Amino acid sequence: MRMPLIAGNWKMNGSLELVEQFGRAFAETGLPPSVEVALIPPAPFLAAMQAALAGSPVALGAQTLNPEPEGAHTGEVSAAMLGEFDVRYVLVGHSERRSMYHEDDAAVLARVKAALAAGLVPVLCVGETLEQREAGQTEAVVLGQVEAVLDALDGKQRARLVIAYEPVWAIGTGRTATPQQAQEVHAAIRARLGEYDSELAAQLRLLYGGSMKADNAADLLAEPDIDGGLIGGASLKTNEFLAICQSAG
Ligand code: 13P
Repeated sequence: MRMPLIAGNWKMNGSLELVEQFGRAFAETGLPPSVEVALIPPAPFLAAMQAALAGSPVALGAQTLNPEPEGAHTGEVSAAMLGEFDVRYVLVGHSERRSMYHEDDAAVLARVKAALAAGLVPVLCVGETLEQREAGQTEAVVLGQVEAVLDALDGKQRARLVIAYEPVWAIGTGRTATPQQAQEVHAAIRARLGEYDSELAAQLRLLYGGSMKADNAADLLAEPDIDGGLIGGASLKTNEFLAICQSAG
């Protein structure tokens, strides 16, 4: 069985005070044992978040990494550096990275490989724009982004991924995909995974992201191929995020 994963991507938001608030909230409120939870703060807060989460089952994640091991890359962070803070998950290919920072499929693949080599779990983000959806290209775009990475990995590497489907039109817009719309794409991804390996299709976790909130999470998570959520805005409030975690249990 696939254990649901609820991951909060803070993007470029938050503060040390918010890190402390989350630490206190997790200490005071039990999480369902059947759900895995991760918080993904901006890189400067990793050490504080690691300390705030010590003793809790909540995992730590990072929002991006540079594929190079070290060197003259001002402003960048390597996979090994993330590992020093017990980072377990790292987002790769988020639509904001693809569009604002020009990370194409080759750049995404390089990051996935660097993350895997350092023992991190890449959360491969995929998703179509509104224009692509309206042109009937959703499946082609999403499966193309999946294949660009999976074709270049071996079976063991593929099995270590998490995939997050985040329709670009649903991110930060308040316009959530309906459970049916999300399930349709998740099912297509899972069917494609089955062409690599039926075990892979059965085991890989597929998260949904895009305006997921406490009041729509349960319906999305009830779909058979939605194994968790990648939460942006709603992961910045302790009560809201904890309510989403509860609804996955
Ligand atoms: P929102 O939940 O704010 O729409 O963001 C989703 C997202 O991009 C998470 O990575």
